[in-house]
Amino acid sequence: MNLIHCLTFDIEEHFHVTAFDSPMRRRHWNQLESRVQQTTERLLAVLEQEHGRATFFVLGWVAERHPRLVQAIAQHGHEVASHGYAHELITVQTPSRFREDVRRAKGILEDLIGAPVLGYRAPSFTITAETSWAFPILVEEGYHYDSSVPPNQPLPPTARRRNGKPGTVGSFQCLPTDAGMLWEAPPSTVQIAGVRMSLAGDGYFRLLPYGLLLRSLKRVETDGHPLVMCLRSWELDPDQPRMRGRLLSRLRHYVNLHKTEGRLACLLREFRFVPIRDAIAPVSVLTPWGTARQVACKG
Ligand SMILES: [Zn+2]
Repeated sequence: MNLIHCLTFDIEEHFHVTAFDSPMRRRHWNQLESRVQQTTERLLAVLEQEHGRATFFVLGWVAERHPRLVQAIAQHGHEVASHGYAHELITVQTPSRFREDVRRAKGILEDLIGAPVLGYRAPSFTITAETSWAFPILVEEGYHYDSSVPPNQPLPPTARRRNGKPGTVGSFQCLPTDAGMLWEAPPSTVQIAGVRMSLAGDGYFRLLPYGLLLRSLKRVETDGHPLVMCLRSWELDPDQPRMRGRLLSRLRHYVNLHKTEGRLACLLREFRFVPIRDAIAPVSVLTPWGTARQVACKG
C-alpha cells in the first residue's frame, strides 16, 4: 500500500495534561519544571533521522516561553498548528472566551513562524455536540481545519445544518458551518480483539504490545483508510517529575514512557506520514494568508 498518513503531536508541558489539572496547579505552572524544549527537540531529531514530517499542535502558553522552539519546528519542514492558548477544555469555556483563546494562540504562532496557521486541536478532543458552536468560530478566526472531534462520535449538529451531507476525503470530512467550510481530521480508530479503540491519547501507543498495534494499524491501511496518529511531546520523556493524581490517570500518563521513542522510530519506517496541511491541500483551495475565511471543499 502507498497511502499517505498523518502524524500529529500536541506540544505541551507534562503538567498541562487534563488529568492532572486543577486551579491550584494552574496557578503554579510558571514554577514547575519546564521540559517541553528538550522533549520536542528529541522528537525533531527522531523525525529527522527517519525522514518523517508531522503536524505540531503547539500550545500558545508554550510558544510564548519557547519562541525558538516553534521556529525550529517550522524550519525542520513540519507544520505548526494551534493547540489553543491556555489548555482549557472547551466544555468549560464560553464562545467568547474560546474565540479569544484560539485567536491569541494563532496570533502568537503566526508572528513566530511568519506563515499562516491553518489547524486547531482542542485540549482533550473536547469539540462535541454540546460545543459544536466552536466550528464557525474557528472558521471566522481563519482556521482551515480542526482535529478535535473524538473518534466514534457523530458529527455535532451545527456542522450538518447547512448544505446537506458533509463531504469526505478518506477519514477527513468537510463540514459546512454557518461561517463557511471547515475540514475535520479526526484521530483514527483501530479494531483490536473486537473492540474499537481510539488513537487519540489514553496511552494506547505505550500500553499495547507493539506487534499488536502495528498489525492493527496495517489493517486500517489495507482497508484503504489514512491514519491520523496523535501523540503528546511529554510521551518521549521517561524522566519527567511524577505528579499526584488518580491511580488510573497516573497509569495512563507514566506507563512505558521509555518505549515511545523507539516505537515512534519503528512507526516512521513502516508508514509514510505528512502533515495534515499537506494531506488536505490537494483537495482544498487554500486562500491567501490574512484573507482566509473559508475553505472550498472538493473531492
Ligand atoms: Zn493537550
